[in-house]
Amino acid sequence: MEIFKNFIDGEWVDSLGKDVFENINPADTREPLGAFPRSRAEDVEAAVSAATKAYTRWRLVPPPKRGEILWRAAELLRARKEELAREMTREMGKVLEEARGDVQEAMDMAFYMAGEGRRLFGQTTTSELPNKFCMSVRAPLGTCGLITPWNFPMAIPAWKMMPALICGNTMVLKPAEDAPLSAWHLVKILEEAGVPRGVVNLVHGFGEEAGAPLVRAEGVKAVSFTGSVPVGREVAQACAGSFKRLCLEMGGKNVIVVMDDARLDLAVEGAVWGAFGTTGQRCTASSRIVVHKAVYREFSERLVERAQRLKLGNGLDPTVQVGPLINEAQLRTVARYVEMGRAEGAQLLCGGHRVSDGEKAHGWFFAPTVFGDCQPSMRIAQEEIFGPVVTLIPCDDFDQAMEIANHVVYGLSSAIYTRDVNKAFRALRDMETGICYVNAPTIGAETHLPFGGTKQSGNGHREASTAALDFYSEWKSIYIDYSDRLQRAQIDT
Ligand code: NAD
Repeated sequence: MEIFKNFIDGEWVDSLGKDVFENINPADTREPLGAFPRSRAEDVEAAVSAATKAYTRWRLVPPPKRGEILWRAAELLRARKEELAREMTREMGKVLEEARGDVQEAMDMAFYMAGEGRRLFGQTTTSELPNKFCMSVRAPLGTCGLITPWNFPMAIPAWKMMPALICGNTMVLKPAEDAPLSAWHLVKILEEAGVPRGVVNLVHGFGEEAGAPLVRAEGVKAVSFTGSVPVGREVAQACAGSFKRLCLEMGGKNVIVVMDDARLDLAVEGAVWGAFGTTGQRCTASSRIVVHKAVYREFSERLVERAQRLKLGNGLDPTVQVGPLINEAQLRTVARYVEMGRAEGAQLLCGGHRVSDGEKAHGWFFAPTVFGDCQPSMRIAQEEIFGPVVTLIPCDDFDQAMEIANHVVYGLSSAIYTRDVNKAFRALRDMETGICYVNAPTIGAETHLPFGGTKQSGNGHREASTAALDFYSEWKSIYIDYSDRLQRAQIDT
């Protein structure tokens, strides 16, 4: 089996304890993809210290030069897109077409942030005093600790690394233990693109063992975490004591509202993609569908008919539409929620069971599942399941739809299908989520718009777009007095 390494101070190294863990294909658990270092606090310390040392030089590299490195990385991603996508499908199961999209997103972010090297705009403004010049510029923060989940194993690390790099920060990345290979490829590409020694460091391992020490490390000035709410809460508590800057991107219970005037064929197609794309393992997955009672029966029948026809299997097969769940624990979680839904009195319209015929016996496959006649307060309609399970909730009218849509602790993404422009704009105004769609499902963010959620989906920061620069840089306000005398603001008026 291939042995992969950590990347610390420009060298590929084993963990100091020499322990490893295996990366397994969830579509076929007989296939290991390699062994990765099971790192601990001492490895994290070495990486943080390398990043902190490298920061003294990297912060002085002109941003357009940093941008050139990112640009080269983007070109390498483009050249290797197919190979990287295939490896991603093997390591975490998403179908090949979606894996290509994941690599594309990393590439888009690299190109976008490369361009920021020639912008990183601040402000120039007036002064209340004569012969005085005022401006604000962006300053880097230092070493960043980046912790990522497995469901977008290349895109999410890139979302964090590219803006952090262009702003002049150095970093330690701790990718998810269920999908370390894609992050490994990304770091390898950044090395090849010319990132100087120590600027990017990669430490593999588990959350408690490698993630937690990274969050706590004194040299780390900012932490960016994407993952679940319980872990996000722990990370926030660990950062609070030292007031570390912290970006949290967490879960969702995203809603599609289907009004009685919607184009039903479009809404069904959007619901299938939103609910079962990436096997429902997206933070923006459409896991609740609130449907106007006038079209409820027709919508649910058509959705069930489509869900039952979806082809499950190994994502490398181009005819497969739905891949496996990430691991056995996730399979058990999904099965547990199905039982809970039944016990709560929701109507199981299709799916609800593991699929293990033929080759699928070796993977973590679960049938696309639709629950009908759900009450908004049911746990299956409130909690993030992170699997191919969707809950249908009937509603009487637009106002009730909005009430149900907002009645969750999450606030990541929402959507409405309607042909009434007034309803569309009212929904855009009233839905309490960071991302809203009209006549499209809740998934499909683009890299040049802010990404993130309200309520327990995040902590107010945004990733992607120029909003990411606000997290990875600090504003510095600068006053230059060329009057040759003492001028006192607010006093010498
Ligand atoms: P997770 O919270 O279990 O793990 C995320 C990362 O945190 C992993 O790298 C893990 O090793 C690390 N970790 C675990 N315990 C830690 C600790 N105590 N200290 C520091 N790090 C620790 O999440 P997951 O199962 O990998 O991913 C699924 C979750 O991620 C879902 O809730 C999903 O909604 C969320 N997610 C959110 C977004 C978003 O942008 N909002 C995007 C993708 C996924």
